[in-house]
Amino acid sequence: MASEDDDRWRTLLDAVLEALPACAAVQGPDDRVLAANRGFTRLFGTGVRAGEIPARHHVHRTAELPLPDGRTVRRVIEPLRHEGAYLGALWTYEDVTERKRRERDLERDNVALTELARQRNAFTAAASHELRTPLTSVISFCELLTDPSFGTLTDEQASFLDAIRRNADRMQRVIADLLLTTRMRATAGLELEFGDVEVDRMLQDAVLDRMSTTQEAGLFTVLECTSGPLLRGDRHRLQNVLANLLENAAKYTPAGGRISVTAAPRGEFWEIEVADTGIGVPEEFREEIFNGFVRAPNARTGGYPGTGLGLAISRTIVRLHGGTITVGEAPDGGAAFLIRLPVAGPDDPPREEAAA
Ligand code: ADP
Repeated sequence: MASEDDDRWRTLLDAVLEALPACAAVQGPDDRVLAANRGFTRLFGTGVRAGEIPARHHVHRTAELPLPDGRTVRRVIEPLRHEGAYLGALWTYEDVTERKRRERDLERDNVALTELARQRNAFTAAASHELRTPLTSVISFCELLTDPSFGTLTDEQASFLDAIRRNADRMQRVIADLLLTTRMRATAGLELEFGDVEVDRMLQDAVLDRMSTTQEAGLFTVLECTSGPLLRGDRHRLQNVLANLLENAAKYTPAGGRISVTAAPRGEFWEIEVADTGIGVPEEFREEIFNGFVRAPNARTGGYPGTGLGLAISRTIVRLHGGTITVGEAPDGGAAFLIRLPVAGPDDPPREEAAA
């Protein structure tokens, strides 16, 4: 006969099981079901069938089980022990049908999105290749027309030709960016060739390469570089990054403005800053503009041409060097891009990476 104490403990056990959010049952050391809550009884319809519960489980076990009615339950068996003695087990069941359905839907959406991204990449690569050939021909014919052996051009004709050439050059840069983006997104990734880079020489070259463009745009460029150690990096790709930042600085800064490039070694890093006195990047876009095809509203509505690809490419290149690139506000409201590159290069020089 059960004692009064036993009854009290039994009532407490029932109350504890009832308070659990999951469907739960307690099995004794002899594998018989001692108690189960209402959720458990509801889940299995006719109640607890002890025989269906397999023999003693001393270890914690989790499993997802399909029920005959199509639902899926997650079962957790928690062994109950006291001072090393096995007292039985707590079985909990949770209906995870809805969660599983959402997981399956998400998986399906992911597969569809991956396929869409692959198609977009393939289309961009094909379209860029197709555009490259006729554009090369446009540029070659522009050059031929400037040859005096084909006749002299009037000043007006020469200026029209110059406009065609400048725009064709811009299109060529856009196509190069698109091709680079698709290459970075493809699994083959972007390969870097690491070597020792003289930072001051690299910056001088980058600034001089763009001097005529910046002067034409009515901008003043200042370069200040403290001497420091050789940087382990891919000079050609780092030049791409600097070219992009300088082109942007020139594009987004009205005539009369200033572009300052400053660089110095700091601890284990080289820090390079490209700042301008232009339109600046609104605070809420200072992270997003590093994603492909993203342009801040002040750039879009200001009539500045662009694709939103350059910074995404730049960030990928900088990250492959183990560095970071961020943007803040220059003292006079313009944009200030800061690149931090580890002097010794990345810990483990990555040969390739699929861009996000
Ligand atoms: P693009 O200039 O072709 O649009 P980028 O990827 O180089 O593409 O730049 C992304 C966006 O970042 C630009 O559209 C612009 O909104 C912002 N941005 C980049 N550089 C500057 C800058 N120097 N001043 C102001 N905004 C900038």
